[in-house]
Amino acid sequence: MANYIHTGEKPGSGVYACTNCGTDVNLGRDDKMPPCPKCTNTNFTKVQ
Ligand SMILES: [Zn+2]
Repeated sequence: MANYIHTGEKPGSGVYACTNCGTDVNLGRDDKMPPCPKCTNTNFTKVQ
């Protein structure tokens, strides 16, 4: 059920949480997922 999003993908607007440190990243509709701003991890899960 876990749906992982990776840096460089465009998963659509929403809030994504870093799988390493839990930092939330808020993306717009056409934004590319950046590396985590805190730990540079490249895996995220969708929060909402
Ligand atoms: Zn992180």
